[in-house]
Amino acid sequence: MRILQAASEAVPFAKTGGLADVAGSLSAKLASLGHDVFLFLPLYHEARSWAGKARRTLTIDVPFGPETRSLSVALVEKENLRVAFVDDSAFFDRPGVYGENGVDYGDNDRRFSLFCRAVLEAAKALEFAPEVVHAHDWQAGLLPILLKRLYAGDPVLGAAHSVFTVHNMAYQGLFPAAAVQLSGLGLKELSPSSLEFYGKASFLKAGLVFADRLTTVSPNYAREIQESSETGCGMEGILRQRSHVLSGILNGLDVDYWNPEKDPNLPKPYGAATVFQGGKAAAKKALRQECGLKVDSGLPLIGIVSRLDRQKGLDIAIAALERRLGGFELAVLGSGDPALAVSIRQYASRHPSRIYFREGFDESFAHRLYAASDIFLMPSRFEPCGLGQMIAMRYGAVVVGSRVGGLADTVFEADSGIGNGFLAEPGDIGSLERALDRALEAYHGPMWPKLVEHGMRTDFSWDRSARAYVDLYENLVGAVVGPKA
Ligand code: ADP
Repeated sequence: MRILQAASEAVPFAKTGGLADVAGSLSAKLASLGHDVFLFLPLYHEARSWAGKARRTLTIDVPFGPETRSLSVALVEKENLRVAFVDDSAFFDRPGVYGENGVDYGDNDRRFSLFCRAVLEAAKALEFAPEVVHAHDWQAGLLPILLKRLYAGDPVLGAAHSVFTVHNMAYQGLFPAAAVQLSGLGLKELSPSSLEFYGKASFLKAGLVFADRLTTVSPNYAREIQESSETGCGMEGILRQRSHVLSGILNGLDVDYWNPEKDPNLPKPYGAATVFQGGKAAAKKALRQECGLKVDSGLPLIGIVSRLDRQKGLDIAIAALERRLGGFELAVLGSGDPALAVSIRQYASRHPSRIYFREGFDESFAHRLYAASDIFLMPSRFEPCGLGQMIAMRYGAVVVGSRVGGLADTVFEADSGIGNGFLAEPGDIGSLERALDRALEAYHGPMWPKLVEHGMRTDFSWDRSARAYVDLYENLVGAVVGPKA
C-alpha cells in the first residue's frame, strides 16, 4: 500500500516528545512490513545533516497566500523508508522546532500552512500517488481539508484517503482567522461547520472535520475526549458527531531502540532475565554518582523524564513527595515551562544530596535515567497515551502513574494481583501520596522483583499497533491491498 505520513517531528530526525517516537517508528515499521511509505517532515536546523545525505533534491513552487514560494525538498532513504524533508530555511532552519525558551514562534501558522501545502505539491512533483495520507496533529491538520478542497480532481492526489491522528487534543493550532488563506483555502472555511473555532482558525479542527478516519493514541483517550470538555478541549461535540470514524490505537514502542540489552548509553546491559544480576544496579550507581545523590543507596531511586507542562502533574508530584522525604532519592529530567523549571530547581536545591534536576532535552541522560530508576513517576492530569511509562517498564522501573488515558491502558494496579504498577486518581495529591506509599512499601517487600520482571516482559512492540493501522487503512481504501511486490 502507498502511504504518505506527514508529521512535524519524527525520530531519529527531530524530536520534542512522543509524537516523534510514534511518527518515526510507525513509518519505519510500515515500511519494514513492505508498504511503500513516504514520510514528510520539515527540515529543521537539528535535522540539516540529513539533507547532506540526500539521494536527490528537487525544487518545487508552492502557492502561499498571495505569493509563490520556491523551496527544495531533500529525499533521503533510511532502510526501506523514504523521507522527504521540506526545506524552507527562513521558516525551519531555527534553533527550536515550535519555539524557543518556552515561547512559540509567532509565525507557526505560516510555517505549518506552508508545510502542509508543500507536502502535497512535493507528492505531485514526485508523482507519489498515496492511497492513504496519514496526518499527525495540528501541524499537519490542514492536509485533509486541502485534499478535499484543492486536490480532489488532481491526477496524483485525487484518489487519496485521509487519516488524522491526534496525539494531544490540548494542542490545537489556533490562529487568527486570516491564517486560513495562507494555504489557499477560501474565507468560506471560516464557518463552524469547517475549521472556525470561536472566531479563530483551528488547524486541529480542520483535521477532525475533514479526515476520512480519525484516530487517537489509546482506547481510553478516544473515549475521554468525547466525554468531557476538559479532555476534549472544546472539540468533544465534533468528536461525538464523528465517533463512527474515530478509534483509539495504543502506541507501540521501538523496542530495538529502547532496549536495555543493547543500549550503548548504559554501563552494563541487562534484560528481564538478568535485571538483578548487576546491570540495573550499575546504572543506578553510575547515575547516583553523576548526579551527586548520596543519601542512601538502599533507598529507591525515583525517576521522572518529562516535558515540563501542567499536563504532566509535576507540581502534584512535588507536593506528594515533599511529605515523604526520607524514603527515596529523586532525579528529574525535563524541559518546557520555565516557571515549572524554577520550582523544581528550587526544590532540588533545598535537598541537593537526595534530589537532582537536569533541565533540558537530553536523550542520552533519559536512557540512563530510565535504567537507573526503581520507580518511574508519571502523575499526568491527562495522558493521550504516554510512552514514558512503557519505556520505564522496559528498563525495569515500576510505574507510579495516574489512572487516566493511555496510562490506564498500560499500567495496572499491583495490588490487584495482576498488576505492574501503582495508580492514583489524576490531579489528586492525596491519592498520589497513597500510591507512592504503596510503591515505597512494595520496594522493600518480596513482590518487587516480580513487578519489575512483569513490566520488562510486557510486549509494547509496534507489531500489534502497526497491524491495527494497516487494518484501518485497508478498510478505508475498501479492499485488502497487500504490500508492494
Ligand atoms: P509527551 O509526548 O506528552 O511529551 P510521552 O510520554 O508520550 O509524552 O513521550 C515523551 C517522549 O519524550 C519519551 O520518549 C521521553 O523519553 C522523551 N522526553 C521527554 N522529555 C525529555 C527530555 N527532557 N529529554 C529527553 N527526552 C525526553
